[in-house]
Amino acid sequence: MSSDVNPLFTQRDKLVAEMRSGGSLDWDIIIIGGGITGAGILREAVRRGYRALLLEQGDFSSGTSSRSSKMIHGGLRYLAAGDLKLTKESLSERERLLAEAPGLVDRISFFFTLSKGLFPGRWAMAVILTLYDFIAGIRDHRYYNNRRLGERFPGLQQGHLNGATAYSDAMVDDSRLVLRVLQESIAAGGKAINYSKVSQLLLADGQVQGVVLDAPDSSDAIRLRAAAVINATGAWADRLRNQVNPEQRIRPLRGSHLIIPRNLMPVTDVLTSLHPEDKRGVYIYPWEGTTVIGTTDLDHSEDLDIEASINNAEVDYLLQAFNVQFPQQVISRADIISSWAGVRPVIGSESAKDPSKERRDHAVWSDNGLITVSGGKLTTFRLIALDALNAALPQLPAAQPFTDERVFTTPDLTPSELVAEDPQWAQRLLGRYGIQAKAMLHSAPVEERQRIAGTDFCLAECRWAARHEGVVHLDDLLLRRTRLGMVMAQGAMELLPALEAICTAELGWDQDHWRLEVKRYMSIWKRFYSLPEDNDRP
Ligand code: FAD
Repeated sequence: MSSDVNPLFTQRDKLVAEMRSGGSLDWDIIIIGGGITGAGILREAVRRGYRALLLEQGDFSSGTSSRSSKMIHGGLRYLAAGDLKLTKESLSERERLLAEAPGLVDRISFFFTLSKGLFPGRWAMAVILTLYDFIAGIRDHRYYNNRRLGERFPGLQQGHLNGATAYSDAMVDDSRLVLRVLQESIAAGGKAINYSKVSQLLLADGQVQGVVLDAPDSSDAIRLRAAAVINATGAWADRLRNQVNPEQRIRPLRGSHLIIPRNLMPVTDVLTSLHPEDKRGVYIYPWEGTTVIGTTDLDHSEDLDIEASINNAEVDYLLQAFNVQFPQQVISRADIISSWAGVRPVIGSESAKDPSKERRDHAVWSDNGLITVSGGKLTTFRLIALDALNAALPQLPAAQPFTDERVFTTPDLTPSELVAEDPQWAQRLLGRYGIQAKAMLHSAPVEERQRIAGTDFCLAECRWAARHEGVVHLDDLLLRRTRLGMVMAQGAMELLPALEAICTAELGWDQDHWRLEVKRYMSIWKRFYSLPEDNDRP
């Protein structure tokens, strides 16, 4: 390991060992939940000088934060619904992320198709987007008639359309966003451990004083104390909160997506159109060298402890959305590489029966010393984190002053200095690994620094993740540190021999351990990232 490398998540075993021997049991802040909300809180807590620990029951980002639609957006529909505040905050955060993390968060054009006789029409969209762009401080929307739209999306059925309005928002790899925020937090002194479940809150005189941690790799629970405990467990938030307040506020809503090979529909922009059945907006968009169709929006009544997955009705719904629009390029289940589903932690209201009518705002509650935060979006994670932290301030010592508000440290080398022959790819690596990008690339043998065919990932990233990014299972590596298992056929089976060599060297796995990990991974992939059996219908 080169000396300029932060130990990142290699602290995990050391920290747990310390806790077992009675050290590191007292903290200023304990954050429960290792999604984007928890990561954002850790980032903001450590820069204020707090001793902060984040605990995640599964892998980092394994909840909703690796399963979103991956858009960093102002939320055009919030503006159309008159929610100026949420739009304004989202747009200013979008611009901040684009400026701070290029290569991780990148601008992309959205084409919103205009259906004849349906709202919004061309002029209504022009008004909405003038306001949208004005709030963001950019001017980037234009009208495309059917002919120009057809050039952009060859084969698109246009008989029912009055062209489209194009505007810009941004795309991200959500899981890498969480990892990058954690990396920054840990470099600034924060601690984060995955596969560490909080089973209970520690109460004294009815007040929350800490947590009981199901200790990783052991049956002994560890009792940790903190001046402030923040419950950032997203869709699971009611569970811990219900230990101090019986109110149920989370309405879990599932959204699912399909991934098809890029060559079947090589889009470079996002196409938004209204689903023929229910007139909901559905997206077709490029992501990680593939094309994605998403999403659905329905109540998720399944057990939250079982990973969310797409059902057959959703598969049919998304295929229909695609096939109605591209009748000459009809796709079937056999064309699908993989799928993913996530559960939105939406704060339920009494009034909205239709899931899509629920607001996507976040909420913060304070109950007997427990701060709970849930809801919201990836895009506004920094503001959500600040709201949660502000609610915890009365329980905390005074914060240290700081001046630099950036979430991400700017790497001190240019893309051409990192990979002279491919600066665009280098920018991607700088966005994902920040100041660690050079160390990531150079700590692997030359042959691992090439892109894996058909993807933008390289094996050097897998080696780096195994060595430095808290990988415990093969699925951490293939589904979250990289997305190889989602974008390659059969869950990237063809990479297994190369990955076995990497995991053996970096994680010390022997053959038996490797076999167990492959079995676990293939079972997870089949159940939650491929398609349900076609005959498995109600
Ligand atoms: P999570 O990511 O779910 O994190 C909570 C974590 O808490 C989980 O990892 C869980 O394992 C952990 N946890 C639970 N209980 C415990 C415990 N007892 N002990 C320890 N850990 C525990 N937002 C956007 O901005 N753009 C989008 O395009 C977008 N698209 C979306 C599409 C879909 C289908 C969905 C579902 C959401 C989308 N969102 C989008 C919203 C966004 O993904 C979420 O708001 C965000 O990821 C929530 O992050 P979180 O950290 O609050 O929750």
